[in-house]
Amino acid sequence: MIELKDIYKTYHRKGISNDALKGINVTVEKGDIFGVIGYSGAGKSTLIRLVNFLEKPTKGEVLINGESLASYSEKQLRATKKQIGMIFQHFNLLESKKVFDNVAIPLVLQRKKKQEIKERVEELLQFVGLSDKANSYPSELSGGQKQRVGIARALASNPSILLCDEATSALDPQTTQSILQLLKKINAEYNITIMIITHEMAVIQEICNKVAVMEQGKIIEQGSVLDVFGKPQHPTTQNFVKTVINTSIPTAVQKKAKALPGSRYKLEFVGESASEPIIYELIHQYNIKLNILFANMTEIQGTALGNMIVQFNGEASAISDALTYLKAQDVIIEEVEEV
Ligand code: ADP
Repeated sequence: MIELKDIYKTYHRKGISNDALKGINVTVEKGDIFGVIGYSGAGKSTLIRLVNFLEKPTKGEVLINGESLASYSEKQLRATKKQIGMIFQHFNLLESKKVFDNVAIPLVLQRKKKQEIKERVEELLQFVGLSDKANSYPSELSGGQKQRVGIARALASNPSILLCDEATSALDPQTTQSILQLLKKINAEYNITIMIITHEMAVIQEICNKVAVMEQGKIIEQGSVLDVFGKPQHPTTQNFVKTVINTSIPTAVQKKAKALPGSRYKLEFVGESASEPIIYELIHQYNIKLNILFANMTEIQGTALGNMIVQFNGEASAISDALTYLKAQDVIIEEVEEV
């Protein structure tokens, strides 16, 4: 478990101070895949460097499994560091060393016995699917394979936490997918808590169960991925969600819709309501004409999330009854003024 309590971080450089973090409160529970998303300069790297002891907060506390890092001796810090693995955007491999030796680095530093190192490295290479590359050099590997080496190295000392710093940003979409699936497997099979920082909402959508959105050193929104994707509150979060869930109506449809009478509503169906025959009931029970201008369906954390923009045409009382019915079915309704 990682707790960041009222964290402030100010950098001082050449007489200029820069408030990189301004009052951050985050709790990452054991077993979470916690995503931190934000645009460049939001403070994400600073945040992850605090968890990894590479930086100290100016104010506030970082707690790992309930223990404050500030209270630790050097020896305790070293022991806790072993519990935290990290992977990087540009892999940070030693080019002059073979894959086997790159993965072995943390174990060599811990002065483990040769045979123990061999067994552990072989096990890790098998886990990440690189058994046949043990004797290759990083320059002989693809980006995805390099990241797999980075992951194997991060897992070498059996961490309970894995930090991922833009780990898929340098990879193509297909390779990104395979690395994200590997991270999911690590979380599920080894019960390792994962904290990911990224600027890509697709990464959050694919594997995270919780998300925090950062802007200018603050967390502007956080919660379960389903809640944040389903009802993003802050305009920046809404922009991020739009990159993966498109709810804009095609221009040709917009033109037609403007010419039609009736009120327009954005309907959002989450979970159960996404699989019920609600639209059927709406048309049959309430005397209204319904025109679907736009619809899409996404899966988030195994739950269906549906978006629809509809135009209702009918008596005001019938529309009002229909809206009451929709609300009773847990459909989130928003009137759309302009399409
Ligand atoms: P992100 O990872 O979201 O791009 P960063 O944490 O790297 O954001 O940066 C947050 C802010 O802190 C930026 O304004 C950046 O310029 C500043 N910053 C980051 N690291 C340092 C540093 N070592 N010295 C001075 N300023 C820094």
